[in-house]
Amino acid sequence: MNPRTTRFAPSPSGLLHLGNARTALFSLLAALPEGRFLLRIEDSDRARVSPAFEEALRVDLRWLGFGPYMDEAGALRQSQRAPVYDEYLERLRAQGVVYPCFCTEAELGAERAGLRAQGLPPRYLGRCAALDPQTARSRMAAGETPVWRFRVPPGQEVTFHDVVRGPQHVATNLLGDFVVRRAKGEAMFFFANALDDALSGVTLVLRGEDHLANTPRQILILRALGLPVPEYGHLPLVLSEAGIPLSKRDGAGSLAALRDEGFLPLAVVNYLARLGAVVGSDRLLPLTELAGLFDCRRIGHAPARYDREQLLHWQRLAMAEAALPDWMPLIAHRVPEADRLRFVTATRPNALFPEDYRRWADILYGEPEPLDEAARAAIAAAGREFFQAAAAHLDGGGAVADLPLVLKDAGYGGKRLFHALRAALTGRLAGPELKDILALMPRALVARRVALIRDEGC
Ligand code: GLU
Repeated sequence: MNPRTTRFAPSPSGLLHLGNARTALFSLLAALPEGRFLLRIEDSDRARVSPAFEEALRVDLRWLGFGPYMDEAGALRQSQRAPVYDEYLERLRAQGVVYPCFCTEAELGAERAGLRAQGLPPRYLGRCAALDPQTARSRMAAGETPVWRFRVPPGQEVTFHDVVRGPQHVATNLLGDFVVRRAKGEAMFFFANALDDALSGVTLVLRGEDHLANTPRQILILRALGLPVPEYGHLPLVLSEAGIPLSKRDGAGSLAALRDEGFLPLAVVNYLARLGAVVGSDRLLPLTELAGLFDCRRIGHAPARYDREQLLHWQRLAMAEAALPDWMPLIAHRVPEADRLRFVTATRPNALFPEDYRRWADILYGEPEPLDEAARAAIAAAGREFFQAAAAHLDGGGAVADLPLVLKDAGYGGKRLFHALRAALTGRLAGPELKDILALMPRALVARRVALIRDEGC
């Protein structure tokens, strides 16, 4: 198969959410290893887009690891391409494929209402299609500003093979002559979008299924212009955990929010690769290997639902596979250099997010967090004498590492002993192995916390 050219064409009108990120990921995976993956900024809707959102989406894409595969600097920007769209519109005009339409909103509204009343889908019935060119010219000369409509060939079918959804057939009679240029002069979004794809050599368009209705129109436009028609694949929506379509505007499920929470990009990528699609491997894989397994035909047709548990699963794997030295800077302010490797190794099973390393560094080397409920119960169950015995051992110069043995000899055994010590030292029952806690925590801190419980209880 020839290398593909794919693209991601976001409108910078909000923060990228998981659905957008999945579209970008699938487009990249479809292009790797030898194809091209283009970024295009669809910013023609000036009222809705902002440079801050554009910067944010570039940050997101780089964070996901797409940077090396994506031509960022060469990204086309729709807002700067009006002359190109005008030029192609002119060609359509010269061919008589588009015509000016002077119908008012009121007329169009009445037409739509009439069709609906008959149970028919609304479409333009072509009132201005037969307007003679002389009349049209003089109306424009008199200052009227028409929209321009594409003359849809009647009685045909537009067929295309959607690489996700299979064969598609749309009767042109259902489309109606559609607007390609607004009265104020700007190209309609889907006109610009189709031109940009064709002119930049895109061979496969993967995008959300909310764009499916545009596709037959875009195919008609490209064919009329003699431009290459890409393949299309429309991806089902991604729903939130509550079953609502994700939206760029509500910030929920945004990549930025996940990044702030501490999710690793590799976890997000591995999760997204499997969100509504079958990968054929349970392993955490780098982009290049995910690309080797990617197949548009293995993308499901039903909406996919965000599942945080699944994302956490990939987060666990990604955290476990990250190199230990990656975490050293996070803890350097607290943990003495000689302890760092042991610290990271010991706390790794308890670190779901990078921040957890910092938290454990604070717990084992800084100020204790308040005791949680389970810790209070374990301390209460052990009783004051338990801590008197522990403190006596430490006050007498005994080694911290010997505490369990000494307490066992004093008649405290098993779970009770371990829970109570762990609770007193760390404020919680879950955490690293007790032997690691005892080895890592500075002696003075162990003595202080034991004495505190002895004196004050919990
Ligand atoms: N700019 C469109 C969007 O953000 C993408 C259209 C497309 O991918 O063709 O939804």
